[in-house]
Amino acid sequence: MGRLAETEGLTDIQEEILKTVRQFVDEKVIPVAQELEHADEYPTEIVEGLKELGIFGLMIPEEYGGLGESLLTYALCVEEIARGWMSVSGVINTHFIVAYMLMQHGTEEQKQKYLPKMATGEVRGAFSMSEPGLGSDVSAVSTKATKQADGSYEITGQKMWLTNGGSSTLVAVLTKTDEGAESVYKNMTTFLVEKTPGFGEVAQGVTVPGKIDKMGYKGIDTTEMIFEGHKISADQILGGEPGKGFFQMMDGVEVGRVNVAARACGLAIRGFELGIAYSQQRQTFGKKIADHQAILFRLAEMGTKVEVSHNMMVRAARLKDTGKRMDVEAGMAKMVASEYANEVVEDSFRIHGGYGYSKEYEIERLMREVKFMLIGEGTSDIQKMIIGRSLLKDYRS
Ligand SMILES: Cc1cc2nc3c(=O)[nH]c(=O)nc-3n(C[C@H](O)[C@H](O)[C@H](O)COP(=O)(O)OP(=O)(O)OC[C@H]3O[C@@H](n4cnc5c(N)ncnc54)[C@H](O)[C@@H]3O)c2cc1C
Repeated sequence: MGRLAETEGLTDIQEEILKTVRQFVDEKVIPVAQELEHADEYPTEIVEGLKELGIFGLMIPEEYGGLGESLLTYALCVEEIARGWMSVSGVINTHFIVAYMLMQHGTEEQKQKYLPKMATGEVRGAFSMSEPGLGSDVSAVSTKATKQADGSYEITGQKMWLTNGGSSTLVAVLTKTDEGAESVYKNMTTFLVEKTPGFGEVAQGVTVPGKIDKMGYKGIDTTEMIFEGHKISADQILGGEPGKGFFQMMDGVEVGRVNVAARACGLAIRGFELGIAYSQQRQTFGKKIADHQAILFRLAEMGTKVEVSHNMMVRAARLKDTGKRMDVEAGMAKMVASEYANEVVEDSFRIHGGYGYSKEYEIERLMREVKFMLIGEGTSDIQKMIIGRSLLKDYRS
């Protein structure tokens, strides 16, 4: 794609992986995305293709059957995939977060049990913090896991907005438990809930009612999940110890922010590609619209936004890969990439004139999809809270 969104200093292996993913996206995703999206149809063949490419195990260490790649490689693959169809990147996003949480916080037994099957895509992950009454304010989680006399737990409550809620078989669920701690954050526990794929009663005391009908992000299933006395062993607590759930989830969401930034970059790249192509086809007042300065300037701004977003996303991923703190950088990358993607796609839509409003043109789909980037893994308001508080600590006078 010309000179934009290039990444310097990649290894030969990273270049090779990206080339393969880009080819897969160009050949297998872009040609079918419109049709599947308009029919709200699950991209089964594409998902099978991703399994073959090893994408489900990209970051899972080799000892557990994965490719052991970095967050940067993962994020660059996500950018490529989202350029083709954002929903497909959603299929692997929650799976990746659950695998990451297992890698960072799981017991050795949990890693052995789940990671090899997650690497092949046999076990598919979803993660669940949100509830009908909360999204940004995670401390308000009310789904309760009550300890029983035999040491097991019973979960009751309602969860909301589970990406891959139907197709997944392993869900990391944040619950409230009574650890007697003063801080609400230390009375939260993440459980690894096993379920069958599909809808209805998917495990004892667990119901997934059906797909939520959304404005975009179609094809992929987003669901509620209702717990009514779901009995679960204490062995299914992530890391084996209760009271750590909030911090584990926040760790997962932090890498998730790089992932959403990468998805936004993919959408912005595609928006730019469509806009610059159309501007050279369409003629008004005797010349190509790209030759009108207003359009030329719009293209310049779009390209600059693509470049800024890509570089911030890459920097955040690289910081994480070197083990450095990156809460601020991940928050900034997520905020900038999602806001810019929204603007770039909107500009491309304007370049398309009336045709942008037609379902025949790809930009119409991007217009609906890009809105989710402003919400997932925390809204821009929430990113500003994280960035601002952290900067205040660093620059305290
Ligand atoms: C398609 C889709 C898929 C999703 N997938 C998942 C998933 O897989 N797992 C999961 O757990 N969740 C998921 N979510 C939920 C998502 O994370 C939340 O929607 C998001 O965090 C926002 O929460 P909310 O919708 O409750 O909005 P609210 O928290 O109610 O916020 C409403 C508005 O108030 C603003 N606001 C809130 N608090 C503050 C504050 N302190 N200061 C300033 N402004 C504030 C927000 O920015 C927003 O503009 C998904 C959501 C959607 C739409």
